[in-house]
Amino acid sequence: MNIDDKLAKVKYVTDEETHLKVTQEKCKKCKQKVCTYICPANVYEWNEEEQRIIVNYENCLECGACRIVCTEKSIEWQYPKGISGVTYKFG
Ligand code: SF4
Ligand code: SF4
Repeated sequence: MNIDDKLAKVKYVTDEETHLKVTQEKCKKCKQKVCTYICPANVYEWNEEEQRIIVNYENCLECGACRIVCTEKSIEWQYPKGISGVTYKFG
């Protein structure tokens, strides 16, 4: 089973407000932008034209990896409110 098949099994309830915030000034200076390739759900995208990180927070799997690897401590990460966020189905 590949990652796309696994992601298809995940259910989300999207919060109107993001639970992931970045400090764009830090991201702009960040050389490696590791968030754009370690996130399993491709939440972070670098927009070269606008010189900013786009955060597709509604796809977040709540694994917490981005918060650990961000070298600039730019990510403010919280669990989504109430019943919002991801639901995993096992089996
Ligand atoms: S790794 Fe951190 S500082 Fe760098 S682009 Fe991603 S969120 Fe911004
Ligand atoms: S918590 Fe995990 S899935 Fe969510 S944005 Fe960070 S790395 Fe991606």
